[in-house]
Amino acid sequence: MRRRKFMKNLAGAGAIAGAGSLAAAATTKETDRFSWKLVTTWPPNFPVFQEGVNRFAREVKTMSGGRLSIQVFAGGELVPPMQTFDAVSQGTTVQLGHGAAYYWSGKIPAAPFFTAVPFGMNAQGMNAWFYGGDGLKLWREVYAPYQLMPFPMGNTGVQMGGWFNRKINSLMNLKGLKMRIPGLGGKVMAKAGVNPVLLAGGEIYTALERKTIDATEWVGPYHDLRLGLYRAAKYYYYPGWHEPGPTLELIVNLKAWQSLPQDLQLIIETAAASSNIWMLSEFEAKNLQALRILRNKYQVKLHEFPADVIRHLHKLSNKVLDEEAAKDKTFMKVYTAYETFRADNDAWNALSEAAYAKALKL
Ligand code: CA
Repeated sequence: MRRRKFMKNLAGAGAIAGAGSLAAAATTKETDRFSWKLVTTWPPNFPVFQEGVNRFAREVKTMSGGRLSIQVFAGGELVPPMQTFDAVSQGTTVQLGHGAAYYWSGKIPAAPFFTAVPFGMNAQGMNAWFYGGDGLKLWREVYAPYQLMPFPMGNTGVQMGGWFNRKINSLMNLKGLKMRIPGLGGKVMAKAGVNPVLLAGGEIYTALERKTIDATEWVGPYHDLRLGLYRAAKYYYYPGWHEPGPTLELIVNLKAWQSLPQDLQLIIETAAASSNIWMLSEFEAKNLQALRILRNKYQVKLHEFPADVIRHLHKLSNKVLDEEAAKDKTFMKVYTAYETFRADNDAWNALSEAAYAKALKL
């Protein structure tokens, strides 16, 4: 009787979730094919981000000979973008999600360390921390209570500082500025006297054009060009100190993950790593083309943040991180591990990447 009821539940759930997530406990050996759903936080056809996720699903299908097929849904198509974490955590409808850890900092204050923190590590440092250091192990520890298994999958590289409708010559120019800048970067800016505003991607252009805001950050040349931000503000600042190399995430429901045979787990892991490289490379290649267009075709003038502004923002960033660490034990733990790795990474970087960049200018 119990068995029959269980089988009935299994069939019902299977219709929604695909056979994968529930089959494991009972019938792993009999179930050879998995049909999963993946939801993202991105708009449909969002360049690089959503493209990279589609590419991941195609690779998994091909590598598994069709045994694991993943249907991809953009933000809002199945689940509202900001419910991706909860939906995958529950695992009833979807098994996979793609977004950025710092979207979940309301639940997990330490989450930004797995995406980007102001004046933190760049893409190369983040990958080193995840794959070579203790970053990924810590990330999995932090996500485990939510029944989630995270993988790094994509990185935008160093972002741009943003578009401003006035010149930033000194700290004074930041006072009272209304800027769209989310997360910890927004908290740092608030300490500098900026009024940080939260706006979704689709609302930025109009707000800047109508002068509801004075400035915005978005991504980098490629995405900024597509949004037409050069038409709404005159001054394009660099570098993106607030997002020096945000890592994107693939999250897998833990039960669903455990239901997979080892070879399919390895395929997910491999395809995620492949898309991690693909997205970063795509960003780099598309950004340099877009930068040329912004400069040559639209005569966009580029400005570097003045040194004293950067130094001050850096100081404020450390202050913000210290304050957050005092409020949350996990934040402190991840912060400590991150800082230990970053300090070594900086020391090595000074002799490698940074020294080389300096050498090129001599
Ligand atoms: Ca950004």
